Amino acid sequence: MKQEKCKCEKNHPIVLQYDFSSLPFACANCNLDVDLGRLDIDDQWRKKVGQWMTKYRMAYLQWLDLDELTPELANPAGTLHELGFELVTHFNAQYPMYYWWHLDTAEQGNRCPKCQSDMMRVRNEYTGSHLVCNTCRLLVVIKS
Ligand SMILES: [Zn+2]
Ligand SMILES: [Zn+2]
Repeated sequence: MKQEKCKCEKNHPIVLQYDFSSLPFACANCNLDVDLGRLDIDDQWRKKVGQWMTKYRMAYLQWLDLDELTPELANPAGTLHELGFELVTHFNAQYPMYYWWHLDTAEQGNRCPKCQSDMMRVRNEYTGSHLVCNTCRLLVVIKS
């Protein structure tokens, strides 16, 4: 759970990222919670975000419990991530957003897990850099 809020001087893209905190919106540069003043979230979409968080929480807990990736988390085209990408596509029309992928590059490689194309490297202040696919709006963290 993040206690701190993003204080970056510039506005960076937002990452839709489930991490057991109450807000699934993180700054792509510092990975802290962002101020949602940047987004207009109506009741319908708030509800969808809540549904996605509930699903993600269940899949995540199962993963931690079994120490084995659930088919739902592993499959970029499954119902969990389908809902996640729907949210990102919707909000991305208002403000640049990416979908956080749960594996890092060491586990995932440099290709987009969704469309298999090469991803673009972007610098950040919390891990050094991450990779993004601008077609799928997907973000994979690079850990060294
Ligand atoms: Zn930030
Ligand atoms: Zn892609």
